[in-house]
Amino acid sequence: MRLTDKSRIAVSHLWRKLCLLPTSRKVSFAAAGLSLIAFGAAGVAPLAPDAADLPVVTITEELALPDLSTQISALRNASTPFIVEERVRPGDSLWSLLNRMGVNDPGAANFIRKDAHARTLVSLRSGARLQASISPEGKLLSMQTLLDSPRNQNNATNLILEKTADGFSSKLTQVTLEPRVEMRSGEIRSSFFVATDMAQLPDTVTEQLLEIFAGDIDFAADLRKGDYFQVIYQSLWHGSEFVRSGRVLAAEFHYNGNHRQAIWFGTGEGRRGDYYDASGNALKKTFLKSPLPMSRITSGFAMRMHPVSGEWTQHKGIDFAAPEGTPIRATADGVIDFSGVQSGYGNVVIVKHGPVYSTLYAHMSRIGTGMRLGRRVAQGEVIGYVGSTGWSSGPHLHYEFRVNNEARDPGTITLPQTVALSAAELPHFRKRVANINHRFAMMAPNPVTLASR
Ligand SMILES: [Zn+2]
Repeated sequence: MRLTDKSRIAVSHLWRKLCLLPTSRKVSFAAAGLSLIAFGAAGVAPLAPDAADLPVVTITEELALPDLSTQISALRNASTPFIVEERVRPGDSLWSLLNRMGVNDPGAANFIRKDAHARTLVSLRSGARLQASISPEGKLLSMQTLLDSPRNQNNATNLILEKTADGFSSKLTQVTLEPRVEMRSGEIRSSFFVATDMAQLPDTVTEQLLEIFAGDIDFAADLRKGDYFQVIYQSLWHGSEFVRSGRVLAAEFHYNGNHRQAIWFGTGEGRRGDYYDASGNALKKTFLKSPLPMSRITSGFAMRMHPVSGEWTQHKGIDFAAPEGTPIRATADGVIDFSGVQSGYGNVVIVKHGPVYSTLYAHMSRIGTGMRLGRRVAQGEVIGYVGSTGWSSGPHLHYEFRVNNEARDPGTITLPQTVALSAAELPHFRKRVANINHRFAMMAPNPVTLASR
């Protein structure tokens, strides 16, 4: 993402320089601009070198500019409109943004403040891109920007402002974003998050990975130095403009001697897609492996001296060390069976998952808003926050997995999984897996490991 930003900034600079030139020159330089855009896009192609290192700036410098003062004076006499492109910067106001674009038009500013659609321009997120057409006198002729929402899947809304005979008009149009495929791989040297940063993985993709493998991998306890991951995900574009990262299409982890794969498979209309392992088993487990996305088990299911009472008993649960305030997730869908204070447990929530299983989350600093008796919770939903209430020697989560109200070691219980793909879907899925494994093999950081797999 960072890499394409860089080239885009270069494009934007180029445009601003172009705007200072008369139209005849604009055409030829616009072609150069287009090739630069195409070049930026090539940076996301499979196996491309790290595009952040590519000499984008050098290309901009090759375009020798003629004496600007004569150009500007020539422009003042011309009636051709400018095409300007700008990005919203942190702390920008409508005034500072228009000013930077060279718009000096109180009528336009007034319209933007009052019009129901145009008003969104006042609160654009920083980084949003605007294109405007401006008269040599600084009057706004038209303006457009893409209003994006991650909930819109592959769509975005284009806001268009146009000058009319008696003022301005605004309209919203739906645009379909073009999906492209990106690939990244990373090796664990210190932590998972350092590795995802090094791999330039967008945060939304990292979050998806945590979620996809939540039933399989405890990201703090299971990963070792030298483990690695590969991921294929969508990025969504509007023409040459990167809009946002999309869904993870496939990912794999090689960790601690294990190998886990997740392949997105959504078949046809009406059926929601899901992640599957290479054999076609649904990856979403009935229970998450850990109620905290990043944590460290400090006490498992074993005999131990109780840290507060000093008694030697079996620890009926698992303790996860985490800073105070860390969100605690329900490990499975269920209904809240208890929510409140119990002396030893402190602030505690018990979730019932059908007639047999329940889970307990103790020592919370705070129970999640609205997490009352009888409330339905989804797997992964935040039900409270790590604390040290009750008999606790420091902030941690005491988690119990109960079978028929008896705390059990979740590691020793085989739990049911969600449904696998149907026989009819399998051949199509296998083809997908073969294709993805071919891509993974191409970008694996360590071919020796792969050969021996
Ligand atoms: Zn405990």
